[in-house]
Amino acid sequence: MEEKSFDIGIIGGGPAGYTAAINAGKKGLKTVLFEKNEIGGTCLNRGCIPTKAIMHSALLFKELKNSHDIGINTENISFDWTKIIERKDNIILKLRKMLELSIKNSGATIINSEAQILDKETIKDSYNNIYHCKKIILATGSEPKQVKGLEFDGDKILSSDDILRLDKLPKSIVIIGSGAIGIEWCRILSALDVDVKLIEMADHLLPVADIEVSKRIERIFKSEKINFYLNNSIDHIDKRPNNIFIRLKSGEDISADKILVAVGRSVVNQPHVDNVVTIGDAFGSIQLAHFASKQALEEICNIKFDRKFVPFVVYGTPEIAWVGLREQDLTPGSYQKILLPISAIGKSHCDNALDGFIKILKNDDCILGVHIISKEASSLVMQMSIAMQNDIGISKLKEICFPHPTYSEGLFESIMNL
Ligand SMILES: Cc1cc2nc3c(=O)[nH]c(=O)nc-3n(C[C@H](O)[C@H](O)[C@H](O)COP(=O)(O)OP(=O)(O)OC[C@H]3O[C@@H](n4cnc5c(N)ncnc54)[C@H](O)[C@@H]3O)c2cc1C
Repeated sequence: MEEKSFDIGIIGGGPAGYTAAINAGKKGLKTVLFEKNEIGGTCLNRGCIPTKAIMHSALLFKELKNSHDIGINTENISFDWTKIIERKDNIILKLRKMLELSIKNSGATIINSEAQILDKETIKDSYNNIYHCKKIILATGSEPKQVKGLEFDGDKILSSDDILRLDKLPKSIVIIGSGAIGIEWCRILSALDVDVKLIEMADHLLPVADIEVSKRIERIFKSEKINFYLNNSIDHIDKRPNNIFIRLKSGEDISADKILVAVGRSVVNQPHVDNVVTIGDAFGSIQLAHFASKQALEEICNIKFDRKFVPFVVYGTPEIAWVGLREQDLTPGSYQKILLPISAIGKSHCDNALDGFIKILKNDDCILGVHIISKEASSLVMQMSIAMQNDIGISKLKEICFPHPTYSEGLFESIMNL
């Protein structure tokens, strides 16, 4: 057993923890970072990066399959799931190495061990070494939420971690939950010709989104023949040798090879200790990687950010993104709105990406919320996020020159019509 002293001890090496460690190290603070699994946390190893790497292959396959309209003939194209997974694993490895190097270069020490907080200034690792830290940050993240009766078994009932480990794609799958993770996997798997059925308890898909966004996604899914069941959940299942029988609350019977449970994430926490800060997913509010790293920057570098303007993105074709208030959050009469079809923009015709819209909600000169379904929505939303956080109103945005042909012209057109 050894005893060591540090200025700052951070438990958890995901976006919250590693951002805190790198920035604390760069500031010259003697920093120790504990990670019990792999550096990079959920985001790099089981979340944002692996899903988007697989999604890139899936969406490209889908686009090529449907590309005769734009003059490209791709008869008999196929995909290789093993290679898709290999590529995903290589990306993770490469990014993890880069990240570990950044942490090392910042001067922070990584301890590959589970860590336990003993009191507000003491951490113990799994080898019983003791670390005295003037300040402790908990960034222990989150894990997939279980549902009673649908406990993960790694084979038929999958979590978002398990699905990344499949060596073979199922022919059919039922996805429970249409949050970002459910929608993204629905898009990935249906692009790869898996028969997907999506079950959502709420009245609409993606219930966290603006109501018109939800309705448009439903329309897009219908046009793509993706089956979804609203106001529904699973009554019971029967695991059979070749598939799973599923009875829905509505009384309908369906079946599938696998079930993916994507109903949210439970926080991973340690016993509460006064004066110890918790950041990232473990904090238990917005569970997004960029929120986690902003909290870390606020804690270490005192860089403030406004929680009201955290952008949300759901990936796939078309992308879905928003910032600020949704229409259902506002009192009728207290706002004005514009909804511009993305097909009004020349670039969407060039790209054969006509489905979607830009919706802006405002009150006088002030932008209240922006909701986008479009190619490049993830980048478009940032332009509005910057404006909103800096109190740049409609009249000021009218003075900006937007390049042509781009999707950002859609923002300009919308603003000019408000
Ligand atoms: C499928 C999926 C897709 C996602 N896609 C996106 C996306 O596109 N964009 C986005 O912004 N977010 C996305 N997320 C969410 C994002 O991954 C999380 O918000 C982010 O990882 C949170 O960072 P964190 O550092 O708080 O926690 P985590 O990334 O969960 O990291 C916590 C770390 O702490 C470690 N740990 C826990 N307890 C201990 C202990 N006692 N000792 C030592 N180590 C410990 C864990 O091993 C883990 O590595 C996605 C998540 C999933 C599951």
